[in-house]
Amino acid sequence: MPLFIKPGGVRCRIAPSPTGNLHIGTARAALFNYLFAKKYGGKFILRIEDTDIERSDKVFEKNILEGLQWLGINADEGPEAGGPHAPYRQSERTASYKKYIKKLLDEGRAFYCFHSEQELKFEAKEQMSMKLPLFHLCSFRDMPQSEAETKKAAGQSAIIRFKIPTEPSNHQITFQDLIRNQVHFFTGLLGDFSIAKNLETPLYNFAVVVDDHEMAITHVIRGEDHIPNTPKQLLIAEALGWTTTNEFGDIVPPWRYAHLPLILGPDCSKLSKRHGATSVDEYREQGYLPEALFNFMALVGWNPGTDKEIFTKEELIQEFSIENVQKAGAIFDIQKLDWMNGEYIRRKPLSELAELTMPFLKESGLLQITNHKSQITNDYLKKVLALEQPRLKKLSEIGERTDYFFRAPAYNKGLLRWKDMNDEKVLAALKRAEEIIKLKVKSLKSKIEIEKIFLEEIGEGDKGEILWPLRVALTGKKASPSPFEIMEILGKEESLKKLKTATRKITG
Ligand code: GLU
Repeated sequence: MPLFIKPGGVRCRIAPSPTGNLHIGTARAALFNYLFAKKYGGKFILRIEDTDIERSDKVFEKNILEGLQWLGINADEGPEAGGPHAPYRQSERTASYKKYIKKLLDEGRAFYCFHSEQELKFEAKEQMSMKLPLFHLCSFRDMPQSEAETKKAAGQSAIIRFKIPTEPSNHQITFQDLIRNQVHFFTGLLGDFSIAKNLETPLYNFAVVVDDHEMAITHVIRGEDHIPNTPKQLLIAEALGWTTTNEFGDIVPPWRYAHLPLILGPDCSKLSKRHGATSVDEYREQGYLPEALFNFMALVGWNPGTDKEIFTKEELIQEFSIENVQKAGAIFDIQKLDWMNGEYIRRKPLSELAELTMPFLKESGLLQITNHKSQITNDYLKKVLALEQPRLKKLSEIGERTDYFFRAPAYNKGLLRWKDMNDEKVLAALKRAEEIIKLKVKSLKSKIEIEKIFLEEIGEGDKGEILWPLRVALTGKKASPSPFEIMEILGKEESLKKLKTATRKITG
């Protein structure tokens, strides 16, 4: 299907509603819009859809803006970046909506509906009991506007509905979708849908069409949950005179649609809290890197047609193709994200990794910063990080993996036992390790040297009898890097101190 790349350039948008924190689904939609726009040298626009005054909150708006910025999905136009189509918040665009709602009312394409909520609920209940599709073909649809105005002036409350064309009845609406090809709908199932609470308060389906038109959007790339809204939006656009008709009589909007597959959890149901984190800031807090999440999300529903999985931002922009976005639901595979995050962690220079892990070490109470100075040197921190960099999957794991480098380990003396060793044997092993360090190892500068000396000294036999109690004395953990690597970082004095503590644990 032709991609509809306009000579004036591609203009994509993400239009989040600030009724919750930045959701992974919205971030993925933003990313696909961004990649598509950038691939064709176009613009990526951010529009805040805060028409739902009761549920919209500035706190959520801030969270969304910060989340996108953290991910590096930067808008060319938006509430912060500004742009030629400002304002980019729906709450500031009332004048436009009012103008177009009025136009539809004046032209008889919209009308005031005076049915109460109760009446509408009753109607819906009846339709449900008869297993009919739910829709409201309103008895006020042909009431002259002047009469409706009088009713309103007398204090009767009303909302504004779009007058669905009934001629021809149950007309088929077809639209082209860049991912799903042709999508069909029947107008008979839509009813006279609502478009505004009043002239100043448009509802989503109306506001979105006005904005996409006024912001000269060329491609509407969004979640498949919006497919049912699309015929309504097409009819509104047509009524406002912004569409054309093709040779088959289909309404052709000035933009192309692409509806993205739903994001699913590993059990193939829609991704939800049940599966784990669903908002971008939760991933940030758990120690995922923005580059990793960016790369990972690009592969949720899109595949490059090769086995390649690690992409730079530039590569993704080049290689992204809307044609290769799948129709079927896309699994959010957290294990793959963990793997990918680890890959990105391994690519970080140690100085940057130190910066990145610092907040996590502070949060776990391992790193104290007083007067801008920490209790450890940057060099020490880098050595600790170098040890764990090959294994780390998330920055947040750093505390639990390296705590023994920052404070005395807490453990049960039983952990010092290798196989069926008793306390006496453990004590002897700790003493032997102490002797080797004191007498044989000049400095603990090189893990290779330390290892060589220890292995020579232990000689034949079960090495675990010395090395296990030694390693546990240093770390207090069942699993950790080798004692040689650890001693190299801790140094002679600190290693001996830890052996003493272990001895005291047994002797009481
Ligand atoms: N405000 C809508 C949402 O957050 C945007 C839908 C659209 O992209 O048209 O889902």
